[in-house]
Amino acid sequence: MTKHIFITGGVVSSLGKGLTSASLGMLLESHGLSVRMQKLDPYLNVDPGTMSPYQHGEVYVLDDGSETDLDLGHYERFTNGPLTKNSSWTTGRIYLNVIERERRGEYQGKTVQVVPHVTNEIKRAIRSLNADDADVVITEIGGTVGDIEGQPFLEAIRQFSLDVGKENCIYIHLTLIPFLKAAKELKTKPTQHSVGQLREIGIQPDFLVCRTEQPISRDEIEKIALFCNMPGTNVIEERDCEISIYEVPISLADHGLDRLILERLHLKAKSEPDLSQWYDILQRLKMPERQVTIAVVGKYATHKDAYKSIYESLDHAGISNRAKIRIERIPSDALDRKEVQEKIKATNGILIPGGFGERGVEGKINAIRIARENNIPFLGICLGMQCAVIEYARNVAGLDDANSTEFNAETPHPVISLLAEQRAVKNLGGTMRLGAQPTVLAENSHAAKWYGKREISERHRHRYEFNADYRERLTAAGLMVAGTSPDNRLVEVVEIPQHLWFVAVQYHPEFKSQPTKPHPLFNGFIAAAAQQAVQNAIS
Ligand code: GLN
Repeated sequence: MTKHIFITGGVVSSLGKGLTSASLGMLLESHGLSVRMQKLDPYLNVDPGTMSPYQHGEVYVLDDGSETDLDLGHYERFTNGPLTKNSSWTTGRIYLNVIERERRGEYQGKTVQVVPHVTNEIKRAIRSLNADDADVVITEIGGTVGDIEGQPFLEAIRQFSLDVGKENCIYIHLTLIPFLKAAKELKTKPTQHSVGQLREIGIQPDFLVCRTEQPISRDEIEKIALFCNMPGTNVIEERDCEISIYEVPISLADHGLDRLILERLHLKAKSEPDLSQWYDILQRLKMPERQVTIAVVGKYATHKDAYKSIYESLDHAGISNRAKIRIERIPSDALDRKEVQEKIKATNGILIPGGFGERGVEGKINAIRIARENNIPFLGICLGMQCAVIEYARNVAGLDDANSTEFNAETPHPVISLLAEQRAVKNLGGTMRLGAQPTVLAENSHAAKWYGKREISERHRHRYEFNADYRERLTAAGLMVAGTSPDNRLVEVVEIPQHLWFVAVQYHPEFKSQPTKPHPLFNGFIAAAAQQAVQNAIS
C-alpha cells in the first residue's frame, strides 16, 4: 500500500515548504524507499508558464515539457523519483478538467459543485501519479492555510485519509515561530491559530515543523504540542540555515523526523541511511579553497527566485570545484553605465540566463562583448545564447544591426528567427518548443569534453532559433557550432574556440543539476572561472 504524506503551510508564505518537502523526500529515499513528489497549487493559472518571474519566480521545465512551479526544482535536486505533468496541478487545471467533463455530460445531469466534484478531481490528480509501485507519495499544498483558494485542496486531502485509511496517510504542517526582539521571546500563538484553522476543516496534523530563528526550548515545544493536540516528539524545530539550504535534510534527520514518520506509517526502512555525501557537501561549503565571482546579467536579476535553478547550479559547481561562488546580480538595463561595465570586467565569469522581450537585451549584448573581448569565461543560456550569436554577428562578422526577429522584425540580418513550427501558434500557454530534446555535440568542443560524451538530452523552452541562413557566414567568421539537433537542422550550442571558455546553449542546463551531481557545463564554467581568478591574481 502506497503511503501518503501531505504537507501544508501556515502563518505566512515563503517558509520553504518546497525545500522541507524535498528534504523529507531525500531522507525517505536514503532509507531505501521509493518516493514520488507532487505539488498542488491553488492559483487559477493552468500552469505557471505564462506568469512573470516577478510574480512567481522561475518557471521550472520537466523532461516531458511541463512548465511547473519552482518547487519541483527542489524536488529534482534532492530526490530521484521521476516527475511528470502529473506532479504539478493548479486550481486552473483542476477546474479546466471539471468544466470539460461537464461539457462532455459526464456528470449525468447533476449540479456540479466544489464538493464533491472539484474535490474528486483533486483526489484524481493525487492518484494521477500512478504511484502504486512507490512506497511514499509526498504531496505539497501550495499557499497558506486560510487562503480562500486553498479550501478545496484541504477538503480533498482531508477526505483522502478516509479513502486510504488513517494508517496510510499523514499530515505535516509547516509553520513559523516568530521571535519578538522587543520581548526577547518566541511566539507560539500564530502556530496555535494556524493549527486551529486546520482542525476546523477536520485535519489534525500529525507533525508540526516549526521554522524559527532561535532554538525552541523544551517548554515551548511542550506548550505548542499541548495546544496543537499532539505529542511533544512530533513538534520538530527547523532552524534557519547558517550556510546553505543543504543543511535542511541533515537538521530534519537530527530531529528524527524521518524515523518518526516511518514509525507512524508502519513503514520498514530498506537500508540504513547514508548521508555522508550530504555531510561532504556541507563540509565543502563551509571550507571552500577559493572564491570566484560570477556576474549574472538578466532582466530579473534583482528578484531572488527568478533564476533559482541557475543560482543553485552555480553552487553545485562551486561545491565540486571547492569554490565559494559570489554572485553579482546585474540588471541588464544597467549595462549602459560605465561603472557597471567595469564591475563585470572585474568578475571571473559572466552568465546570461534565458528571458523574453526586448528590455535589457542591448545590455546583455554589451556584457557578452565584454566577456568575449576580455577572455572572461562566459555561459549563455537560451536567450543568453541568442544574444551571443547577435553580438558575434554584429561585432565580429560585420553584420550591422543583426538582431532577433523577437526584438526587431525589420532587422537586415535576422540571425535569430522564429522556429518554423512556431509560425502558426496563437496561444501563449504551453506552446513553446518545450522539454527534453537530443543534441549531438561536436568533437573538440568544450561541451563534449565536459559532458564526456557526444550525445546528450537537455530541456528546452523557446520559440526562436539560430537562423540556418546565417550558419555559414558566422562559422566562417570563427563562431563554432558545437552542438546541433541530430538532424543537424537546429543549432543547440555555440562556442568560440580561441576563448578561454565561451559556451552558449539554446537549452536550459540549470534544470538538470543536483548538488550531488553538478551539471557538466556549470562545472566547466566554474573551473574556467577559477582558472581566470588565478591568472588575474598573477597579472
Ligand atoms: N525569448 C527567446 C525565445 O523564445 C528565449 C527564450 C528563453 O530564454 N527561455 O526563443
